[in-house]
Amino acid sequence: MFPINQFENIQTPFYYYDRQLLQQTLDVINREAAKHPGFCVHYAVKANVDPTVLDIIRQSGLGCDCVSGGEVDTCLKVGFEASKIVFAGVGKADWEINLALDADILCFNVESLPELEVISQLAAAKGRTARVAIRVNPNVDAHTHKYITTGLSENKFGISMEMLDDVLAKASAMPNIELVGLHFHIGSQLLELQPFEMLCNRINELQDKIEAKGIRLKSINVGGGLGCDYEDPDKNPIPDFASYFDCYARHLQLRPGQELHFELGRSVVCQMGSLITRVLYVKHGINKKFVILDAGMSDLIRPALYQAHHRLDNISADAASQQTDTYDVVGPICESSDCFGTDEQLPVTKRGDLFAIRSAGAYGQIMASQYNCRRIPSSLVL
Ligand SMILES: *Cc1c(COP(=O)(O)O)cnc(C)c1O
Repeated sequence: MFPINQFENIQTPFYYYDRQLLQQTLDVINREAAKHPGFCVHYAVKANVDPTVLDIIRQSGLGCDCVSGGEVDTCLKVGFEASKIVFAGVGKADWEINLALDADILCFNVESLPELEVISQLAAAKGRTARVAIRVNPNVDAHTHKYITTGLSENKFGISMEMLDDVLAKASAMPNIELVGLHFHIGSQLLELQPFEMLCNRINELQDKIEAKGIRLKSINVGGGLGCDYEDPDKNPIPDFASYFDCYARHLQLRPGQELHFELGRSVVCQMGSLITRVLYVKHGINKKFVILDAGMSDLIRPALYQAHHRLDNISADAASQQTDTYDVVGPICESSDCFGTDEQLPVTKRGDLFAIRSAGAYGQIMASQYNCRRIPSSLVL
């Protein structure tokens, strides 16, 4: 399944992106979302900004969700329409807000009252009106790793429900601010739909209260978070978007004409990517054997940062000779957390073999660093 002969002359480690799988994933997203009136899908750009990948996503018609001025700028440069760009983040700098105002993006997802005041001032200085959605912290537990849980009261994101009335009243009264909706994002890599269902219930309650105050909202934005199967990417190459959208269609009481926006990151690009790396050494310890790769945590930080596990495939090993052995698979970086797997059952491995570290299309290349003076891995889209 991997075009290994096309890998031979490329310096490892590098990211390989499967164009066909990306296209199939986008086709499923578009087909399933289109079954529900008012559903609009944005791509959460922070997951992967490879120019070819972004271009394929843009051509499929998705909008984009940015979390920095740099991302807004990148999206505009690759040709996304400003009217399809939304911009979230707890710490938007003035230059980032100004850049987005100048471009006239679709919506700012605002995370605090002081931010709202600054957007109002900067918009007034330009004689513009900023469309804003208030990001609400719904206090829903996403049951995911604590570093990627974002919707609990103790998280830094959004405005608490207790303070929402006050913020909405102030937003409605501010000059140069047009309140268009509410925004939510409860976390990432959610493998069950139940937290999304709880989010829907929370939103229904909030909408009832808000409407009683005479405020009508054009749109609701529920963020992203749909998870991927890291253990068996071949069995589940495309997440179950049908059930995901269906969950929202069944549980969220959209008002007539109201739009429902999604910001999908990981679920769009995760499975189309693999980090391709070469085995430098097979080292025999006292109780263990180590496979030492030329890729490390500087190239893919998810295992070190979130205790994530990616499937490791030796794609050089002769599939016919099914002999296996047990290895710890590690990188070359001078940190003990630079480890991709312990006690992995793998085909007998030798120096020079190529490995594919699977499900690495999201939060992989984009999080690469130069730690240890290493180079940022390149990408190959085929
Ligand atoms: C990261 C992020 C997303 C995308 O999350 P995924 O889990 O990758 O789908 C969506 N919205 C916001 C505001 C984010 O910060």
